[in-house]
Amino acid sequence: MGVQRVITLGTPSAEGAWGRRNGFKETIVTNLKEGFNKGNALFRRRNVQALHEIPFVWYSFDDSDSRGVETMFERLMPHMRVNTIYDIDLHALKEQGIIGIITDLDNTLVGAKVPLATPELVKWLDVVRDLGFKVVIVSNNNQTRVAKFAEPLNIPSIHAARKPANRAFKAALTVLELRAEQTAVIGDQMMTDVLGGRRMGLHTILVNPITPADEGFGTRINRIMERFVLSRLRKKGLWPEEDRK
Ligand SMILES: [Mg+2]
Repeated sequence: MGVQRVITLGTPSAEGAWGRRNGFKETIVTNLKEGFNKGNALFRRRNVQALHEIPFVWYSFDDSDSRGVETMFERLMPHMRVNTIYDIDLHALKEQGIIGIITDLDNTLVGAKVPLATPELVKWLDVVRDLGFKVVIVSNNNQTRVAKFAEPLNIPSIHAARKPANRAFKAALTVLELRAEQTAVIGDQMMTDVLGGRRMGLHTILVNPITPADEGFGTRINRIMERFVLSRLRKKGLWPEEDRK
């Protein structure tokens, strides 16, 4: 075992202390201050504690294995990128043997502040189900939001999923009665939807967030990490813009 490192973001003193408390010998503090939306109260010091409550902000790897970082990045790379759900080639998915869809809600199906499905979405979901796909909504949002949205659509849902944790993805596969290789995850976040999906062996599809301005605190933190990862992936030539369908 080499030096256990952890990449964090924030202030060196606070994050370094967090790393030591959690048994990391070394803490790399990624200075992403510009990303902290200068003057935005959400990102002031009193929120450092809140950062620690978001487990997926932290990525640890074993420094003795240079593949560690690569693996971390690979796990954040979706199998497919599209602008919106409507750009997904459903027939191609079926040809790959995929017959189940685990979909995120906020900023994937509708904007984060849109309470109900749009007529366009209702139509798309009908097409999806007519093609024989089973669908389940898996959201980190609360029960009120998720149930209110999913019930009129008659789609099963899992709320407070804590993606990228495996548990909700496993529960979703149970609901679908399908195996991971038969199922795709659709979502707008690399840190939750893609990371969690890839770890479970699911086919991952990343969409552009519908209304990024309406994102909550946790998501904004994830976006900072996402930008950091994206800049690395672009430098490595692993994220060509023309890849998006
Ligand atoms: Mg989302």
